[in-house]
Amino acid sequence: MSFLLPKVGDQPLTLGIMGGTFDPIHIGHLVTAEEARQQFKLDHVVFMPAGVTPHKEMEKVTAGEHRYLMAMLAVIDNPYFTVSRMELDRTEPSYTIDTVRRFLKFYENKVDLYFITGADAILDIITWKDYEELLETCSFIAASRPGYSFSKMKVILGPAFNEIIKKVYLLEIPAMAISSTFIRRRVAEGKTVKYLTPEHVEQYIYKNRLYTR
Ligand code: NAP
Repeated sequence: MSFLLPKVGDQPLTLGIMGGTFDPIHIGHLVTAEEARQQFKLDHVVFMPAGVTPHKEMEKVTAGEHRYLMAMLAVIDNPYFTVSRMELDRTEPSYTIDTVRRFLKFYENKVDLYFITGADAILDIITWKDYEELLETCSFIAASRPGYSFSKMKVILGPAFNEIIKKVYLLEIPAMAISSTFIRRRVAEGKTVKYLTPEHVEQYIYKNRLYTR
């Protein structure tokens, strides 16, 4: 692995993998990760900026190096958070199952994995690569904006819903009213993003002229 992961002691680790594009990372992501850490008693949360995502037009996504550095700046003051380059350094698409397999191998299966991401991102989980293996090998924490309910997921997933819901925990995060899209749009319009993302991330955005039209 190309980054330092928490070491295995006698007890198996409980680890959160915070998967997302993080374009840019914002307060909603950080509150989600911290809330998940507390509620699910995670020993550590590894932020995993996505590399080449199969479901996205990558030319519209900011370069991985910028997204990685912004994530690093955002987690610097939390001893329970780290950022991994694992998916960014892969040339092939960022399939979550490949990441999960690499973690299981690294920890020789002595790890409980929780993949944390947006509730909307996992609406189409049945289309993800090897999703059945994914649901067997890790749990999901689905961060939702206020007012979200599983009913949308139920309609979209159909008969698969009852099985999937056993491994998916919904976590309502009021701070997720903030979104990366909202921040990008505000920067493009010359509006302030102060307090929506950590100060160093805000400075990084301006210094590198990200999200200007
Ligand atoms: P997305 O479609 O950009 O995001 C969907 C929604 O979820 C957005 O509202 C987004 O808000 C929110 N979100 C994304 N990541 C979040 C996080 N960690 N915590 C809280 N909210 C989050 O989703 P994405 O970022 O491309 O994909 C999310 C993760 O799922 C990635 O790790 C990706 O690799 C994985 N994924 C895997 C497969 C596969 O294996 N085939 C397919 C799809 C996605 P913001 O825009 O504010 O972040």
